Amino acid sequence: MRSPFILTAVSALLAAVSGMCPEPELKSQSPIDIPQLSGVPNNKNVDVAFPQTSNGVLRNEGETLKLFWDGGKGSHLNLKDKTFSALQFHFHAPSEHRVRGYQYPFEMHIVHQATDKSLAVLGVLFEVDPNDNDFLNQVWPSISQLGDKGTNVSVSNIAGSTLNIGDNTGFFRYQGSLTTPPYAEGVEWTVVREVQKISQAQLDAYTAKIAEKNAREVQPLYGRKVILYEGFGN
Ligand SMILES: [Zn+2]
Repeated sequence: MRSPFILTAVSALLAAVSGMCPEPELKSQSPIDIPQLSGVPNNKNVDVAFPQTSNGVLRNEGETLKLFWDGGKGSHLNLKDKTFSALQFHFHAPSEHRVRGYQYPFEMHIVHQATDKSLAVLGVLFEVDPNDNDFLNQVWPSISQLGDKGTNVSVSNIAGSTLNIGDNTGFFRYQGSLTTPPYAEGVEWTVVREVQKISQAQLDAYTAKIAEKNAREVQPLYGRKVILYEGFGN
């Protein structure tokens, strides 16, 4: 038999707990700090290709520069059997994702969408190097032609094949969210393990246009699994 006193105490406790959590907590947020992992064979869990060039439109969004770009004919990000197509890519300085605590100076997000409108983002990390990055060099000359927030400029023949993504590329996969409002969850994240190079001059050209840092803090994993897939075609 439970005494009325205990029932009252329990309901008071429940009321106090629900008062502390007025809204459902979001527990699959991005970015994250990617932990040390052992790789597993890719087995077509991640398949990325940008075989053709495509034109884009560069836009000054204020917090970032965004390229509306479809990835080119035949391009795809396949996660298992689901196909996502490129919509746009944009940048974060410094990086949003960290790898074993290390924050890189720059990160690119290639945002993809499936026919059911669900989103998958391919994250690419950059470290400063003496040489320019070939992929960024296709876009960077247009930055100086770009005006203030809300202005656009066309960019021709952007080749995703100049990204350092190949047969031996590793991919970190996890379930996350948008890193900007409304922080919607259900976003499939794939972060490329191979860090790309960016020259200091390229980084400076970017921060001259977008001075404000735009990296969201890393978010708790709350039990989510991060998987490292190694090698492409196996
Ligand atoms: Zn982003």
